[in-house]
Amino acid sequence: MAFADTLLMHTDAEVVLVDRRDRPGGHWLDAYPFVRLHQPSAYYGVESLPLGNDRIDEHGENAGFYERASGAEICGYYARVLEEHLLPTGRLRFLGLSEYRGGNGDGHSVVSLLDGSETLVKPRRKLVDARYVQSEIPSRHVPDFSVEAGVALVPPNDLVHLAASADRFTVIGAGKTALDTCSWLLEGGVDPDRIRWIRGRDPWQFDRTLTQPLDLVASYMRLQAHWLEAATSADDGPDFAGRLEEAGVFVRLDPTVEPLAFRGATVSRREIDALRSIEQVVRARRVRSVGRSTVTTDSGDIPGAPQEIYVDCTAAGVPPATPRPVFEPDRITIQYLAVGLLPWCAATIGFVESTDRPEEEKNRLCPPVVFSGAAADLARLAHAALCGQVARARDETVGPWSSASRLNPARAALDHVDDPDVAGSLASVIEHTRPALENLERAAAGEEDR
Ligand SMILES: Cc1cc2nc3c(=O)[nH]c(=O)nc-3n(C[C@H](O)[C@H](O)[C@H](O)COP(=O)(O)OP(=O)(O)OC[C@H]3O[C@@H](n4cnc5c(N)ncnc54)[C@H](O)[C@@H]3O)c2cc1C
Repeated sequence: MAFADTLLMHTDAEVVLVDRRDRPGGHWLDAYPFVRLHQPSAYYGVESLPLGNDRIDEHGENAGFYERASGAEICGYYARVLEEHLLPTGRLRFLGLSEYRGGNGDGHSVVSLLDGSETLVKPRRKLVDARYVQSEIPSRHVPDFSVEAGVALVPPNDLVHLAASADRFTVIGAGKTALDTCSWLLEGGVDPDRIRWIRGRDPWQFDRTLTQPLDLVASYMRLQAHWLEAATSADDGPDFAGRLEEAGVFVRLDPTVEPLAFRGATVSRREIDALRSIEQVVRARRVRSVGRSTVTTDSGDIPGAPQEIYVDCTAAGVPPATPRPVFEPDRITIQYLAVGLLPWCAATIGFVESTDRPEEEKNRLCPPVVFSGAAADLARLAHAALCGQVARARDETVGPWSSASRLNPARAALDHVDDPDVAGSLASVIEHTRPALENLERAAAGEEDR
């Protein structure tokens, strides 16, 4: 949607949008009911339509931070984007409940999931593959461990429909979904002693305080400054992460455990403090089976109990991808160009496509940032992201578009240069960009040699 919106705004292209779901909204349509964006709504969605009201929340877990849309708000938003912005251009057709089945030189096969009829689509310009970094979510995921009959294993979605109350909840997984689920149980008044958490690799996460835009943009600029300063001297991914933690950019769940995962999620200090009240943590990378009396993991067996609810949070979220150029002769593959912020990345790819230049040049502006999920790869990831950021900032067409885009978290920085905090961070960013690039290149090469 972000790609199509920007492309339609800046070109006279025609777009056929194909999705096997009936409506736009992607994974958000099936997300658990208590899901929210990790980031502020202020820089999520598409270029042409704001999401939310740029309100700073006064109450609750997000107090003091810019509002974060719920799953329902996001789905309503994408429906409006389609109905009020994309379809009225007269240059976009939406084929819902239609599955893309592959293609060749003769065309691309799209099959209706309603009546099985096939349409052959022949793109005049390019096929755009927006499935490459699609999200894997619990409600559409089959766990890779066995479950004995009679065991209550549910995706987080079903927690709001429990037939009977539980003696204890066992949450399986260490990603953002598991964090959201544990937070939601605690907020709902469940005693932390009645929550057991099976998690393998703890994740590094961004502290939400430093991801704030608009009137709080000084915080986001501090994040940028700390990131680049840490990048000038980090030896490798783990060392980089440690420096970011010292600077207050990264937070971990358990101060005594070195996080080995990184997927770009964001969390607040309040959430972390609450989550630390869960003391029954089982350190296991893999659950092999869940039985009525025993849970078998790669680190040994643990007891189960009747009336125990197991919550499956093991879907990959953002699954690891193999590298592929964004721009190829007859194809565009939408990917991350930054650490997180997928809508901004997709809109950037749409804008770069709208500029008339050779493919090699487009790829130079859009090096993919490939998530492996491992903290050990952080320097490689940061290097790719910084190369792209610098190339785009220097480009006389893409740079100004990017600075002004509503999807750019730093867009308000220039309006706040009178704030010494913002000015100091901007100066630090300028000072550290080149040494950060040089050092990250060296550290990333070291990661690849391992
Ligand atoms: C809980 C959660 C919170 C997140 N929060 C944030 C956030 O705050 N900020 C952020 O930037 N990112 C966030 N993300 C990352 C998120 O993945 C992206 O923001 C974005 O929603 C992903 O959109 P997508 O279109 O790539 O994937 P999806 O939303 O998964 O959409 C892919 C679409 O492709 C369709 N499809 C797949 N195969 C076919 C086929 N063969 N034929 C037809 N259609 C097909 C699917 O039906 C689906 O609708 C979050 C992810 C999760 C899971």
